Amino acid sequence: MNIEFLEKLSFNNQFEHESEREIVLKRAAADSLASGKRAVPTIMFFEIMMLGMWFLRGGFFSSMEYIAYFIAYTSLLLCSIAAYIILIAVSRDIDHRYHIVEALSVVYDGFLIVWSVYITAVDTYYNGSFSGIIFITILVIVPIVSFVKPVFYMIFHVAGCGLILIIISLYTKEDVLANIINFSVFAIISLISSLTYYGVRINSYKRQVLLEEAAERDALSGLYNRQKLGQMSPMIWQRCIEKKIPLTCVLCDIDDFKQINDNYGHLVGDEWIQTVANVMKQSFQNDLCFRYGGEEFIVILPGRELETAVHLVKTIQTGLKTIQEKPGGIDVTLSFGIYEGQPSVEGENIEKFFSKADALMYQAKRNGKNQYCSECEKDMGYYSL
Ligand code: GH3
Ligand code: MG
Ligand code: MG
Repeated sequence: MNIEFLEKLSFNNQFEHESEREIVLKRAAADSLASGKRAVPTIMFFEIMMLGMWFLRGGFFSSMEYIAYFIAYTSLLLCSIAAYIILIAVSRDIDHRYHIVEALSVVYDGFLIVWSVYITAVDTYYNGSFSGIIFITILVIVPIVSFVKPVFYMIFHVAGCGLILIIISLYTKEDVLANIINFSVFAIISLISSLTYYGVRINSYKRQVLLEEAAERDALSGLYNRQKLGQMSPMIWQRCIEKKIPLTCVLCDIDDFKQINDNYGHLVGDEWIQTVANVMKQSFQNDLCFRYGGEEFIVILPGRELETAVHLVKTIQTGLKTIQEKPGGIDVTLSFGIYEGQPSVEGENIEKFFSKADALMYQAKRNGKNQYCSECEKDMGYYSL
């Protein structure tokens, strides 16, 4: 069995893009965090109860048996408290710390399996009879509650079952073969359930991500749609206020688009919408491009000044001229409105910036199209080229 095979079994390579993998793993971590916040305190509660019973039974540290059980209860309690503190700490920034949740799940699940072997050994030693109930319960439940790659359970299960078999063979020389078969069956059932469950969850996250992507993107251009603009705008506005950074908006409209449709057909029109969107995506790589309306696009540049936006607009204009395969074999031009201002709390919102950019774009149209009009709040004056 090589690593590649294990990775395959872990559904680790079923992502087409690294970004898709990251989004799915972030979702999984958020889910693990939520279930961890429920499961870990439950375990803590049980261990406190067990410690209470241990205390009531008296004896304290008088015998090795009491010490052995005390170690079992306190170790799981302390490990759970530490896990809970880490979960709370990362929950504020799960998007950047999802790897910590992943690693914590592996360590905590591994600890639970080792712990269940230890408690089984203690029970067997002091009660005189073997009971694998805690070990089996943990073996079966942990892969369902938790979200850890099945490859780790393979390692945990082989190690856990190996240790349990050593304990049994120390206790009795009979039924060793039966026990080997029994534990192998449980380990296999648990592995199958972890593989199935992991696969089902990964697929459902993938579906969710695809649906959300489709809901926020415009099908023709592949840019974000207007609904997404409505969702993101207040956040961007707020971030600019908090960080005291300027905001620049660029509105872009294809010139004489109706004529293109009328003269060359809607298919050529559609192809030009896609072409313009691609050129915009290339030029505004780090900024947010949206399809605002039919042949109108809007770009939001938080923290960028007018000069940067003007430079990028010029890049688009030259980019359009130098396209090799022009749909319909025709040239298309764009008109732009560019507005830079400082977002503030005083009764304003991002809509004001959009309407300013829109007015500037119409100014560019009136000035003869294929150009931009820009305004900076600080200067309060038009200057166009
Ligand atoms: P101007 O230079 O003043 O912007 O003139 P225009 O012809 O571009 O402006 P107008 O608003 O009159 O026309 C826009 C046209 O865009 C009208 C509409 O049929 C077309 N349109 C809107 N959405 C789409 C689309 O998705 N595909 C195609 N092919 N055409 C579209
Ligand atoms: Mg137009
Ligand atoms: Mg228009």
